[in-house]
Amino acid sequence: MKDYYKTLGIEKNASKDDIKKAFRKLAHEHHPDKTKGDPTSATKFKEASEAYSVLSDDNKRAQYDRFGSAGPGMGSSGGAYGAGGFGGQGGFGGFNAQDFSGFDFSQFTQGAGSQGGVEFDLGDIFGDFFGGGRGRGSRGQARQERGRDVSVDIQITLEEAVFGVEREIHVTKSSLCNICEGTGAKPGTSMKTCETCAGQGKVNETRRSFMGVFTTTRICDECHGKGQIPSEKCPTCRGEGVLDRQQEIIAKIPAGIDDNQMVRLNKMGEAIAGGISGDMYIKVHVKPHAFIRREGFNLTTDLRVKLTTAIIGGEMNIKTLDGDLVLKIPEGSNNGDVLRIKNKGVPNDHGRRGDLLVKLVIEMPRKLSRTAREAIEKLKGEGV
Ligand SMILES: [Zn+2]
Ligand SMILES: [Zn+2]
Repeated sequence: MKDYYKTLGIEKNASKDDIKKAFRKLAHEHHPDKTKGDPTSATKFKEASEAYSVLSDDNKRAQYDRFGSAGPGMGSSGGAYGAGGFGGQGGFGGFNAQDFSGFDFSQFTQGAGSQGGVEFDLGDIFGDFFGGGRGRGSRGQARQERGRDVSVDIQITLEEAVFGVEREIHVTKSSLCNICEGTGAKPGTSMKTCETCAGQGKVNETRRSFMGVFTTTRICDECHGKGQIPSEKCPTCRGEGVLDRQQEIIAKIPAGIDDNQMVRLNKMGEAIAGGISGDMYIKVHVKPHAFIRREGFNLTTDLRVKLTTAIIGGEMNIKTLDGDLVLKIPEGSNNGDVLRIKNKGVPNDHGRRGDLLVKLVIEMPRKLSRTAREAIEKLKGEGV
């Protein structure tokens, strides 16, 4: 007997919310769009959908808990689901309307909306059920495929964050084959018309469901929508047009970037045959600086000042990200006073820099020599 709870990775006493969350997560993970039709994922997606359709329905769940079956077609034998599965040859055919009613789509849209993100797109699910794996035929049109996004973490210093930096990044990812330049054809050979789609680049599929019969169009798997296939395959990529290889990418990190911000490099993600490449996301981690902190577009630092300098003023050398500067300490400075050095902070999007704020920490002498003590006594006599 199938353990629907195990399938969704939840406890027997899981709440409806837990069930929904678990399913949403699995559906997302094993989504045919993401897994490129990987059969293991397709099976998992199907199993998760089956488990969800039972456990999300109070009546079916109760029946399943008691009898290990949720009614006709829901049994352990596989029943209606075994026939072909979603997106497979049988498509949605095995489903009957009654089973489908257990699948509450309205809850999904609500759920996704309330989380403030389109984590779970209703259209995607429909597309996969009715249109079959690749290409998403749900809206009646074939969509161009897109490679996966790639994300990379890098660490930079505060100086690099303030002034910007170029980083060389090495990633191994699916890239266009550099021998055939993505065509998949052996260099010097010609292309021929794809037989699968008769050069159309797309194929029509007719599907039946309780909602009626409809025709969907999807991108041809054979030629990836191009209508042409190589007459002789490129030996390097075996005709795929893409292959995994290591690439060096120069990433420009813009001046002013903050810790945990992302830089997106358009179309630098994984390449996909006949489609457009995904994007690369570079997550930037800024190492804490020894004595300078960032506060918005300002930088702050502490400066230790001798008591005498605080009293009568003076000039002090100060280390900044722009190098050493001379700072004028005004007469009569107090502990905690903040001096502002203009335009030595962090640049904003328009290149305008914030300020460097220098907080004075006035050092009290621990011990006084006799002469010093006499001098201070004198000051005391003057009422200072
Ligand atoms: Zn090639
Ligand atoms: Zn084709």
